[in-house]
Amino acid sequence: MKSHYRVVVIGGGVVGASVLYHLAKLGWADVCLMERSVLTAGSSWHAAGGFHALNADPNIASLQAYTIDLLSEIEKESGQSVGMHMTGGMTLAGTPDRWEWLQSAYRTFQSIGIEDVRLITPEEAQEKCPVLSTHGILGGMWADREGYVDTTGTVQAYAGAAKKRGAEVIEHNRVLELHQTAEGWKVVTEKGVVTCEHVVNAAGLWAKQVGRMAGIELPVSPLNHHYLITEAIPEIAELDHEVPLVVDLEGFTYMRQDQKGMLLGIYEVDHQHWMMDGAPWNYGFQLQQEDPDRIERELTLGFERYPVLQKAGIKTWVNGAFTFSPDGNPLVGPVRGKPGYWCACAVMAGFLQGGGVGKSLAEWIVEGEPEADIFGMDIARYGAFAENKEYIRQTTGQFYTRRFVMTYPNEQLPAGRPLKMSGAHSEMTAAGCRWGASWGLEVPLYFAPEGFAEKPTLKRSNAIPLVAEECRAVREAAGLLDITGFSRFEATGPGAEAWLDRIMACKLPGPGRARLAPMLSESGRLKGDLTVFNWGDGTWWIMGSYYLRAWHMRWFTDHAGDGVELRDISDATVGFGVSGPESRRILERLTDGPIADLPFMGCGTFDIGLIRARVGRLSVAGELGYEIHCAAAEHIALRRMLLAAGADLGLREVGFNALLSLRLEKSFGIWSREFTQAYTPGETGMDRWIAWDKSDFVGKAAALAERETGPSRRVVMLEVDATDADASGYEPIWRDGRRVGFVTSGGYGHTMGKSYALAMIDEGANAIGTGLTTHIVGQERPARVIAPSPYDPEGRRMRG
Ligand SMILES: Cc1cc2nc3c(=O)[nH]c(=O)nc-3n(C[C@H](O)[C@H](O)[C@H](O)COP(=O)(O)OP(=O)(O)OC[C@H]3O[C@@H](n4cnc5c(N)ncnc54)[C@H](O)[C@@H]3O)c2cc1C
Repeated sequence: MKSHYRVVVIGGGVVGASVLYHLAKLGWADVCLMERSVLTAGSSWHAAGGFHALNADPNIASLQAYTIDLLSEIEKESGQSVGMHMTGGMTLAGTPDRWEWLQSAYRTFQSIGIEDVRLITPEEAQEKCPVLSTHGILGGMWADREGYVDTTGTVQAYAGAAKKRGAEVIEHNRVLELHQTAEGWKVVTEKGVVTCEHVVNAAGLWAKQVGRMAGIELPVSPLNHHYLITEAIPEIAELDHEVPLVVDLEGFTYMRQDQKGMLLGIYEVDHQHWMMDGAPWNYGFQLQQEDPDRIERELTLGFERYPVLQKAGIKTWVNGAFTFSPDGNPLVGPVRGKPGYWCACAVMAGFLQGGGVGKSLAEWIVEGEPEADIFGMDIARYGAFAENKEYIRQTTGQFYTRRFVMTYPNEQLPAGRPLKMSGAHSEMTAAGCRWGASWGLEVPLYFAPEGFAEKPTLKRSNAIPLVAEECRAVREAAGLLDITGFSRFEATGPGAEAWLDRIMACKLPGPGRARLAPMLSESGRLKGDLTVFNWGDGTWWIMGSYYLRAWHMRWFTDHAGDGVELRDISDATVGFGVSGPESRRILERLTDGPIADLPFMGCGTFDIGLIRARVGRLSVAGELGYEIHCAAAEHIALRRMLLAAGADLGLREVGFNALLSLRLEKSFGIWSREFTQAYTPGETGMDRWIAWDKSDFVGKAAALAERETGPSRRVVMLEVDATDADASGYEPIWRDGRRVGFVTSGGYGHTMGKSYALAMIDEGANAIGTGLTTHIVGQERPARVIAPSPYDPEGRRMRG
């Protein structure tokens, strides 16, 4: 062991070994892995080693595909067998909705370029897996690249390949303490003290403790998980091929062959947390006592799905723990305020995801950003609210229980809620508000009469008529929207303007004005679709998406400027938006300030009734509109005053479902759909807001380079001949049978009475008038490229 390394990776499970390998592969050989016991001594040794294609997040599905391809590479590089069994695999659907969902998932795979998947009939499923009963199965999705590996061999292969590239692996050496230093980290271990620039927490079941060593409370918890392995089964032994990996979603089980027997894994509906504060230090190659009673229902379903199990002897029970984050995806990336501390934790499926996690994290450390958009596993998708133990218990438990349960796009799940509520929450609930959750905050979706129940569906919801009415109110009179669910950052100080000018790609607004502000990474990809306000009194605001608060704050901190004080005021400052043709009249009734003189994209301080409010004249809906910001304690008062002032002018409360439809008719993009860190300004139309003549800003060189060559694809507007379902995202777009792009978001435009989608489409196939097709919930639908903003294309209404 040396006294200094560039990187110390803590944890020798599959994830730590993969991080080590990828660091070395990127040329950083001065790296080491510290392992408390021996490699694999956490979750990794007792995993079932299966890998399969599905993930609800397409970016994570792509990284899973990367991992699968990598396994044979590390085997070759290291000379250590990973015990690859590429049997192929299938995911089965046992209800009509699930079957439709699987057909959509298949199309999503096509969108992200995973071509070796196809839909199969129950008969094909039975042929591939003769021990399967297809009773109740409606169809399945087959993937060629599914199977299983030998878990210990795989970890050894990652580590062996890393060692061949110069990395060190130090076993029997627990990391005891971590101390931040001016140069990086001091790592106190059983074998002595080492210093390093970066530490990586890949401590798996012990991630919580290794977080706490640096004062970090990670939203992660272990949960127990069962599988059983049978003795040899004659019906399997006599086959001339291995049976494929089978995931029976309605049965809560996965199955693969194990030697001449079977391995049946169970996602327990009655989940069980284990050691929420992290595993004991002396835990390693033990397992928990099996608990067949707790999983009786799932076992029964499994034995019905594979009748041969009913007479098979059980050779081994495994009840082991592995870790989960609240949404089940990994926690990866740097931690704000702890330079050089990186997470690679909560990797629920390390043999499937470990390669992608290692690759992305190593790129981040070495090159400054990962190649792929990994927001779905970025640790900064959570904030302090998610550190709470009960929040973690509820959300990780919900994820585990629902691992194989279908979640509909219009379904709101209960765990960890309600947590944060705006001041007017109770009154809005009494008025019929139906809520969703964003980053722990309750946000209004739509308003419904008492007794209304929204049915979970993949297609148009029965709440659509209610949303349509809200849209009509905004277009014809006025709508009132609780906009607490936006982020607000306040920048002050002598350096604020210069700092904003550097991190935003736009020209900064003058006093009393606001401006759309693209923020770019150094590589010229999007980092934000923000709005900057210059209140004219030395105070600047940056507004964006509420759920990106920690993600943006980390970026701001990493790009801090001198003489600027930045505060996240999102929970202290809240507000309402009023939009629609009557919105000005409503505000005029509440102020004697010159509200009528406020131009489009103007902002200023006004007395609104009793409240001294900051008001911006902006519009996401494409109408005359105002955003009124007040203190959190004034939220109820603001709502009451606005509702009273607008009562006779047709003002009604609306939710974000209406706003999503209204913005689509205007072709206004939103973050995570049209705008992501995988896309560039040219591709998304964000280049319109770039101040090319500014002397410098983050990402300028890369953005200029894109301007020279032009993007190879663009977001364009589509009209879709949809019937009972609208596009939602990641549906493939076809032209004459060739895939030319994918939907970024879609929905129904209630004013125009049409189904629309925004889609990222290759140059050459995205001209206005181009005829295309897409697949919505598995069904082929014609679509065509239309001019942007079918509603009020010249923007007269919002500027009027
Ligand atoms: C029953 C079961 C079946 C599973 N089946 C599958 C499957 O089929 N496919 C799949 O992909 N995944 C499966 N998993 C999940 C898989 O096991 C995990 O995703 C994976 O092992 C996580 O790896 P890791 O490296 O993050 O953590 P771990 O394997 O827990 O490794 C963490 C390592 O860090 C070390 N460590 C911790 N603290 C310190 C310290 N302070 N100093 C030094 N070293 C430290 C530990 O000793 C340990 O070796 C299964 C899990 C279980 C429980």
